[in-house]
Amino acid sequence: MKCTICKTGHTYPGITTVTLQRNNTVVVIRDVPAEICEDCGEYYLSKPIARRVYADAEEAVHRHVEVEIQRYAA
Ligand SMILES: [Zn+2]
Repeated sequence: MKCTICKTGHTYPGITTVTLQRNNTVVVIRDVPAEICEDCGEYYLSKPIARRVYADAEEAVHRHVEVEIQRYAA
């Protein structure tokens, strides 16, 4: 698909690191499958993957951790 950020690049399937911040919690999730723009590096998560990533981050927020690094496991 075409990148909606830079509008010139095309995306290809790859692996990215997603960083989410909420209140005082930072969650870093590595090895997340995503579509990545060849030009600007913006990544796009599919709906089920995004839902999973946000659920994991939400769970870390509830545990009040400050920084957590996870690895995405399908
Ligand atoms: Zn782009």
